[in-house]
Amino acid sequence: AKQQGKAGFVRYVDGMGEPVLAHMQLGGELRRALDHDEFRVVYQPIVRLDGNRVIGVEALVRWHHPTRGVVSPAEFIPAAERTGLIVPLGLFVLRETCRQAVAWLDEFGPDALKEAGLNVSARQLHDPDFVSDVAGVLADSGLPCERLVLEVTESAVLRGQQVSRALYELDRMGIRLALDDFGTGESSLSLLRAFPAAIVKLDKSFVDGIEIDDGLPAAADARQAVARAVIQLAHALGLDTVAEGIESPEQVTALRELGYTLGQGFHLAEPMPAEGVSRLLARQQAA
Ligand code: C2E
Ligand code: CA
Ligand code: CA
Ligand code: CA
Repeated sequence: AKQQGKAGFVRYVDGMGEPVLAHMQLGGELRRALDHDEFRVVYQPIVRLDGNRVIGVEALVRWHHPTRGVVSPAEFIPAAERTGLIVPLGLFVLRETCRQAVAWLDEFGPDALKEAGLNVSARQLHDPDFVSDVAGVLADSGLPCERLVLEVTESAVLRGQQVSRALYELDRMGIRLALDDFGTGESSLSLLRAFPAAIVKLDKSFVDGIEIDDGLPAAADARQAVARAVIQLAHALGLDTVAEGIESPEQVTALRELGYTLGQGFHLAEPMPAEGVSRLLARQQAA
């Protein structure tokens, strides 16, 4: 059965009801898009939960397709990973983010923005050139290592020796590693012992509904229990935390009560072009 995808891609639905993108065709399209400079990076602010001060950003890629408009990464990252195109695409996002972070630091000073983060796929960590590529981009851009955050998921981290070696090298260089979508994997807790993480990002699924007072004591409330366990563990291990996907002021209150100090989400700030972040930083500097 054929079905029209959100961004206009034809999806083929197999017998199991799983939508499958036409990957081969999309792979060719992505190559063309990269050659034609159709990818853009937007930045979502990471803010302090007390007072909304911006302390960092997460870079998120967008595809500005000539006829389909803006295509979300959920539509093309899987195909980019499968075809290997995530390697040059990821390098583009890295260069762009480092260049932009340096521009912000030049314009607004070293205290304006602590760090800039971006997502890294397992496929990139498997690339034997990844660590030296990152070192090269940092050197070219002039961004200090400790200002860069690389976000990886638990499943990416668990991909064997080559990947762990790359992660330890990046950590040794002073780059900060964040465990993305934390709590959704199967071995989150034991992973933290074995992995040089500096930051854990509490997954949106634990933030959704965290503000609901169901009359249960907090310890009996699964979402709150996970959110509390994550922050206790992070504190014990000396890690920073960021709560993801915050959509309401009530969620901010609930997270602050649990001890979270940093967050990200549509309620705080949506992903925006670099100029939008510049305006926020300018306003912060004036305040
Ligand atoms: P992610 O790394 O977990 O990024 C957070 C996603 O949640 C982003 O979606 C962001 O726009 C969205 N988001 C932020 N706040 C809220 C909120 O309050 N509510 C809701 N419902 N969503 C919120 P986006 O930009 O569509 O990216 C989706 C995923 O695609 C990312 O999830 C990441 O896994 C991947 N991705 C994006 N850019 C890149 C990239 O440059 N490289 C790689 N490898 N993956 C990327
Ligand atoms: Ca992320
Ligand atoms: Ca995430
Ligand atoms: Ca409760």
